[in-house]
Amino acid sequence: MTDRPLLLLDVDGPLNPFAARFPRMRGYTSHRLRPTVWLTRQAPGSRRHRRGLRVRLNASHGARLAGLPYETVWASAWADEANSLISPRIGLPEDLRVVAWPTPPAADPGGLCWKTRPLLEWAAGRPFAWVDDMLTDRDAAHVAEHHDAPALLLRIPPQWGLRNADFARLRSWAESL
Ligand SMILES: [Mg+2]
Repeated sequence: MTDRPLLLLDVDGPLNPFAARFPRMRGYTSHRLRPTVWLTRQAPGSRRHRRGLRVRLNASHGARLAGLPYETVWASAWADEANSLISPRIGLPEDLRVVAWPTPPAADPGGLCWKTRPLLEWAAGRPFAWVDDMLTDRDAAHVAEHHDAPALLLRIPPQWGLRNADFARLRSWAESL
């Protein structure tokens, strides 16, 4: 489906509303997961290390994302582990392509999100919608200047995660291309 735009999808923020104000959000289930990106920041043997990271996920999101006219690609610090840890819990395929980041991820010298430059390189001129909680106007300006195809940057507040209006926006944007 290479004629479809890419949907570059972050985990923490859009799928996992880690800053939710209420412990129980309708439609979400709490999981304890142990992604490498998080484990490496925990003290080995600590209680947190043993228990894992609390991640809230909405099991309906996979089908809703798969129903959009995009090729969904992971664009997350979870990297490959989004396929093994997140996909099966929300009903996405476990073999989605994954944006590769430099290791270790480096802070951007120009104040952009650390993902912005590697992501543009990876997208290689294909139209994309990028769904992430860390996007700023600076990233949008950089993408507008350096990406030679349509791009939608959709910032998702980590208090909320993806909501109905976001799915509608993604659909209408892809259909407008
Ligand atoms: Mg995030």
